[in-house]
Amino acid sequence: MSLLGPADIRQLAERLGVRPTKQLGQNFVVDANTVRRIARLAEVGEGDLVTEIGPGLGSLTLALLETGADVIAVEIDPKLAAELPATVAQRAPEAAARFQVVGSDALLVQAAQLEVAGRTPDALVANLPYNVAVPVLLTLLERIPTLRSGLVMVQAEVADRLAARPGDKEYGVPSVKAAWYADVRRAGAVSRQVFWPVPNVESGLVQFTARPHPVTGVTRQEVFACVDAAFAQRRKTLRAALAGWAGSADAAEAALRKAGIDPRTRGERLTVQEFAELAAAR
Ligand code: SAM
Repeated sequence: MSLLGPADIRQLAERLGVRPTKQLGQNFVVDANTVRRIARLAEVGEGDLVTEIGPGLGSLTLALLETGADVIAVEIDPKLAAELPATVAQRAPEAAARFQVVGSDALLVQAAQLEVAGRTPDALVANLPYNVAVPVLLTLLERIPTLRSGLVMVQAEVADRLAARPGDKEYGVPSVKAAWYADVRRAGAVSRQVFWPVPNVESGLVQFTARPHPVTGVTRQEVFACVDAAFAQRRKTLRAALAGWAGSADAAEAALRKAGIDPRTRGERLTVQEFAELAAAR
């Protein structure tokens, strides 16, 4: 399969009249080794249905198709979405029947749009647009419960935040919310030099494996409201930070004690399981 190199990307962009925009996080990968590495780390192959968000000009898409996987991609830019089937047909004709594109904002896409012949996606693999990376990831994890695993490229700092553990300095709202759905780990760094245009930040890879929610009998909304409240005032003890959430500092303390958590602890020390137990205790 012939993957896209720097000259191909520029030619394609020029022919389509695409001028990459920051607003849509349009930094295209121009290095075949990088997209092959992502596809390998994603551990997808024949028989898997992969959702790709933001396929752009098709760099990663072709590498995913090369593994033998089926790909359903979601692209917000209508010019790029319209061109993708032709790029795949030309570069990977044998894989054309395994590829589909949905022209949509990934934040608005519904699970049914990502089904192919009654199958729902097994994996999410994407070079995510920087400015909406976390909401896109959390939205898809919520909307597609069949997702088994994923590999996403995001800004390096965001990768650190997503994969942080309680007590780490990067641990915060994205870390806990991602952990509600999956085990998340860093899977390496990517130099800014593999993109066109070259972004002013480094990138990182994040790998996740879905698992059941840590606590049952409590909703995602209840847990996330507790997490948001705890980190809105992350320097305060949970007793104080959660006063608004619980109704009063005494009510917060009662919920904390019921959940077996020391009221003087700060939110940055709590696991997602403890947040869920706390939300259930309110
Ligand atoms: N996958 C390509 C690659 O690796 O070269 C492009 C990645 S580029 C970082 C991000 C892509 O996401 C762009 O093609 C952009 O148009 C698209 N995009 C931006 N916001 C989006 C959204 N909300 N929903 C779907 N696609 C989006």
